[in-house]
Amino acid sequence: MGLLAIGSPLDWAEAKQHADHVREHGIEQFLHIWHRLKDRTGDVLLWGDEIEYMVISYDDEGKNARLSLRQTEILEDLQHDASERKKTSPGREACIPVFHPEYGRYMLESTPGAPYGANLEALLSVEGNMKFRRKLAQSRMHSNEVPLTLTSFPRMGAPGVFTDPYYPPGGGVARSLFLPDEITNPHVRFPTLTANIRRRRGAKVAMNMPLYIDTNTPRPFIDPNIHDRNIWPEDANARDGAALPDHIYMDAMGFGMGCCCLQITFQACSVNEARRMYDAFVPVGPIMLALTAASPIFRGLLADVDCRWNVIAGSVDDRTEEERGLAPLKHDRFVIPKSRYDSVDCYIYDCDSNRPEYNDNDMPIDPAIKERLMQDGVDELLATHFAHLFIRDPIVIFEETMNQDDSKSSDHFENIQSTNWQTVRFKPPPPDSPIGWRVEFRSMEVQLTDYENAAFAVFIVLLTRAIMNLGLNFYIPISKVDENMHRAHQRDAVHSQKFYFRKNLFSPAPGHGCSPLPSAGHALNGLPAHINGRANGDDTQSSTCSSHTTSPRSHSPTCEKAEFGPVEDEYDEFTINEIINGDGKDFPGLLGVVRKYLDSLDVEKSTREQLEKSLELVRRRADGSLVTTATWMRNFVHSHPAYKHDSVITEEINYDLIRAVDEIERGIRKEPTLLPACYEGSSQAKEGDLFKACCGDVMDIANGAKVEKGLGE
Ligand code: ADP
Ligand code: MG
Ligand code: MG
Ligand code: MG
Repeated sequence: MGLLAIGSPLDWAEAKQHADHVREHGIEQFLHIWHRLKDRTGDVLLWGDEIEYMVISYDDEGKNARLSLRQTEILEDLQHDASERKKTSPGREACIPVFHPEYGRYMLESTPGAPYGANLEALLSVEGNMKFRRKLAQSRMHSNEVPLTLTSFPRMGAPGVFTDPYYPPGGGVARSLFLPDEITNPHVRFPTLTANIRRRRGAKVAMNMPLYIDTNTPRPFIDPNIHDRNIWPEDANARDGAALPDHIYMDAMGFGMGCCCLQITFQACSVNEARRMYDAFVPVGPIMLALTAASPIFRGLLADVDCRWNVIAGSVDDRTEEERGLAPLKHDRFVIPKSRYDSVDCYIYDCDSNRPEYNDNDMPIDPAIKERLMQDGVDELLATHFAHLFIRDPIVIFEETMNQDDSKSSDHFENIQSTNWQTVRFKPPPPDSPIGWRVEFRSMEVQLTDYENAAFAVFIVLLTRAIMNLGLNFYIPISKVDENMHRAHQRDAVHSQKFYFRKNLFSPAPGHGCSPLPSAGHALNGLPAHINGRANGDDTQSSTCSSHTTSPRSHSPTCEKAEFGPVEDEYDEFTINEIINGDGKDFPGLLGVVRKYLDSLDVEKSTREQLEKSLELVRRRADGSLVTTATWMRNFVHSHPAYKHDSVITEEINYDLIRAVDEIERGIRKEPTLLPACYEGSSQAKEGDLFKACCGDVMDIANGAKVEKGLGE
C-alpha cells in the first residue's frame, strides 16, 4: 500500500465533481503507457510476495490479546533500521526487506527488498526471506507485542477492550457502532477513503456473515450490541434491517480492509503473456481461497463461513441504492452487480481458447471509454476490461494532483485501477520505470506460519510456470468462477463443497489458440532461459523470451480456429482434493501439472526435495490429511473449556487462541493436524543467519528491479 502522498483530499461532494476528469485523464494516461509499451517483450519473469501482519499486544494479567495501534512508530523504526543496514551492507540493498503501511493502524505489510528471479533456488529462499522479515518486525516491537499473520482478528469490534490503547467505539469518520476511528491508519488518505465510501453509498456499509449456530446459541440470534445503541443517525439502518438476524453484522470499512492476506505479483515477459497469466489465474482464485481459508471468527462470534473475502467486498461497497438495483436508476448511470472489491468479471487474453461464451457475466461498461480505447487500437477484450473498471468513481482525489501531465503520470489511472480490488489484478507498467506488465494473484488468506505462506507462494509460482510452459487452459465460464467464490466461503469448503473446473487442462491442443512456450533453450539452474530471471545477461533473457511469446489471436499465423463443442461439456464439478491432487484417472490436478513441469526440468535432487516439502503442505491441505487454518481455529474453540457452545469467543478464549497461534509459529507448540512434522518454527532462526541466507539469493537492486510503489491493499 504505497503512494502515501501528503495533500489535501477532497470530500465527497467535491470529489464527485471531478470524477469524469480523473476517468478521462486516467484513460489517456493508460493509452500513453499502452502506445509506449504494448510491444515490449523480453521482461524477466520476476515475482514477489506481500505478507500482512497484525501487531498483537498481550495483556497477560487481564488475559487479553489486543491490537496494538503502534504501526506508525514501528514503521518509522523499521525504516530507520533499513537505512542503517543499507549503509553497513553496501551492494546488498536488495536484501533489505521493505515494510509498508496498511489500512489498519495495527497492520504492517512486508515485501522482499527486491523481487525474486525465476530460478528454482529463489524458491528455496522464500521461507527464509519471510522469516527474516518477521524477525525484523518483531525486533522493533515491545516485549508484549508480536507480529502475527492472522487473516481476521477474532475480537475486533466485540464488546470490551480489543485495542491497545483502548478507544471507545465510534467517531465521525466510519460512524461505526463497534470500531473506533482510531483503528484506521491516520494518514489522511485512509479516513478520506472510509468517509467518502460511506458518503457515496449514502449509508454505512453493511456486512452480514452467517453465524455458526451452536447448541446453545439463542435463536433467533439478535445481537444486543446493535439494538441498544444509537450514536449516529445512520445507526437506525441496523435496526431497520441492515443487521440480519442469525448473522454477524459489521458496519465499517475496518472490518474488511483490516483483514490480512497473502498476495503474489508476477512480471510477465510481454503484455500478451501477462493477459494469458491473468486469465489462467481467474479460475484458480476461489480454489486457493478455499484452501487457505483462515477467518472463521468475526466480531467475537463464530461464523458459518471460513473466509474474509465477502467481508472486504462489503466493507468498501460504495454503490448507491440505484446502483445496487434497489431503486430505479435516476441519478446514477449503471446498475452494478458487484462491489468494487470482488471477483474478476471478464477474461482478457486475445486468443481463440478464450471463447466469447466464457465472458458470461452481466457486466456494465462505460461505452465512451471503450470506444476511446478502441479508437487508439486497444483490442476489444482489453478495452472492455478497462471500460468496466472505469465505471467506478475515484474515491480519494488530492487537490494538488488534479492536473497532471498524462504522458508522464499514471496517478489518475491508478486512482481507479487500484481501487478495483479484484481476485486478480492486471498491472500495466508504471511510466518511466524498468518494470514490465504484471499480474497479481490476490485471493489467498494469510497463513499462521512462514512455512505455509512460502509453500502457497511457491505452489503458485510453479503453477504459473506450468501454465506458461505446458500451454495449459483453465477457462470456464466466469459465472461458474463466481459460483466457486460463493462456495469457497462455506464452512470447511475443502470437504463440504465441489467446485467447477475445466476437465481437460490441455485443450485445445497446441496450435489451436494458446500454444505452450517451447521448452527449448534450457539455461542455468535447470530452467529454460526464457524463465530464468537471474544470472543471465539481459540479452539472453530478452531474445529468448521474445522469440517464445505465445500466439495471440490477432498476431499469429499458427492460430487456427479450433473445433469447439458446447461449453457445458468442458467443465465438471470436482472436490478440492481432485482439483489439486487429481482424480487418479484422466485429470492430473494442479499439483499433477506442477510435477509434470518439474519433471521436464533437470532439477537437482536436493532442490526437488526441498520443493516437495512446500508442495506437501498443499497436497495434504487438499486431501484432508491436514486441516485448514479455519478448521484448526474452530476445533480450538470447540475444545476450549470456557467455550459455552453459544458461538461467542470471549476475551479468554481469544487470548488462548492467539497465544496458541504464536507458539505454533515459533515451533514450541506442535499441531500435527495443521502442520506436517517437518515444520520447525521460527524460534531457532537467528536474524543474522536469515539475512545472510536472503542475501545469497535476492536480485541486486542495481539490476533495475526497483520495488515500485503503488496504491495497495
Ligand atoms: P501493491 O501495489 O500490490 O501493494 P507492492 O509494491 O506492495 O504492490 O508489492 C508487490 C510485489 O511485487 C512485491 O513483492 C514486489 O517485490 C514485487 N515486485 C516489484 N516489482 C516487480 C516486478 N517488476 N516484477 C514482479 N514483481 C515485482
Ligand atoms: Mg502492497
Ligand atoms: Mg498487493
Ligand atoms: Mg497490502
